[in-house]
Amino acid sequence: MNLSYILNELGEDRHEYFQAITPPIVQTSNFAFDTVDEMRVRFKDEYSGYLYSRGLNPTVDILRKKLAALDSAEDALVFNSGAAAIFSAVVPFVESGDHIISVSGVYTWAQKLFDLFLPKFNIHTTYVSGKNIEEIIHSITDKTKIIYLESPNSWDFRIQDLKAIADIGKEKNILTIVDNSYCTPIYQRPIELGIDLSLQSATKYIGGHSDVVAGVLSGKKSLLKKIFDLEYLLAGNGIQAFNAWLLIRGLRTLPIRLEAIRKTTEEVIAFLKSKNEIEHLIFPFDENFDQLELAKKQMSGACGLFTVVLRCQDLNKIERFCESLTTFKMAVSWGGHESLVIPRLAGIARSEFDPNKTEHRMVRFYIGLESSDYLCNDLKKALNYLN
Ligand SMILES: *Cc1c(COP(=O)(O)O)cnc(C)c1O
Repeated sequence: MNLSYILNELGEDRHEYFQAITPPIVQTSNFAFDTVDEMRVRFKDEYSGYLYSRGLNPTVDILRKKLAALDSAEDALVFNSGAAAIFSAVVPFVESGDHIISVSGVYTWAQKLFDLFLPKFNIHTTYVSGKNIEEIIHSITDKTKIIYLESPNSWDFRIQDLKAIADIGKEKNILTIVDNSYCTPIYQRPIELGIDLSLQSATKYIGGHSDVVAGVLSGKKSLLKKIFDLEYLLAGNGIQAFNAWLLIRGLRTLPIRLEAIRKTTEEVIAFLKSKNEIEHLIFPFDENFDQLELAKKQMSGACGLFTVVLRCQDLNKIERFCESLTTFKMAVSWGGHESLVIPRLAGIARSEFDPNKTEHRMVRFYIGLESSDYLCNDLKKALNYLN
């Protein structure tokens, strides 16, 4: 389907709402019926239409259609956060005694789901690097129900061969899930490669303005209906109409924002790589990235996030570097208009800092919509604090 059509027209029946260009925010909790029979039909299958906005809602449905089409998927569900999408992708498909294989280094709350929550129900997870297929095949047991991937992840950008792993999942009847937040369907289409469920934190690039928290799951309608019928309605963490409306607005500019960020990211990376203060830079489309070939094979682009390892061994200097940046804000998340940094050492006590551990000298950058000159000026000043 044509990208411009998806982003500007699909799902929007303007005759239904006064020919308004912008869809209405259908801010209602419930929907009325004319006949008992219509109500009966809806009670029997809430996935078939409108009953109550914890289930389906017309503004959210416009967004669902666009997101599903972007992924070449049959259907999509939208959640109140990416974490809720992760929870809802995994929990419906496991029961006590089951086993999950996950790549290591996944998003923090996916890891907490596997390490802290699911073991309470006797569901255990084996972590693999994800770099070689044999490792995954050897970890499969007769109890394995899910292979959970994140490609690339958002710190060291490790990637997995999605097509090869999807094929294994199909052969062994194991559900495959990938967190595609880094790429979005603009740069990577996991469903087309055979993955069962593709998820994204829509808080990041889809929203794009740092003003909404949301998550997406897309895949076969039968899988999403199973999720909807119990976990989605039970946990009540579907997205609200206003937030869905903000995401529709975000989608309009998604490809041009990514293109701008891609260009600026390349320029900022070139600037940083020319600086002696930078020991190493990690970015999936960098010529030195150890999985570059696979990245180029399954991703059509990369931008925004990269990580540097600073040469500086002094904790205080690294902290001063981060604190003296003014255009780059020190904050979690990414995907918005504003450029960001996170020093890895914010995750450890100062007393634990060990300069011999390269990850302690890592700083993750996110490039937003500012110009590269503006960003490089900020970096230039701050780099002095590392000497
Ligand atoms: C932010 C993020 C999530 C979680 O999404 P929220 O919207 O913050 O709940 C999941 N995966 C990745 C890769 C993320 O960056």
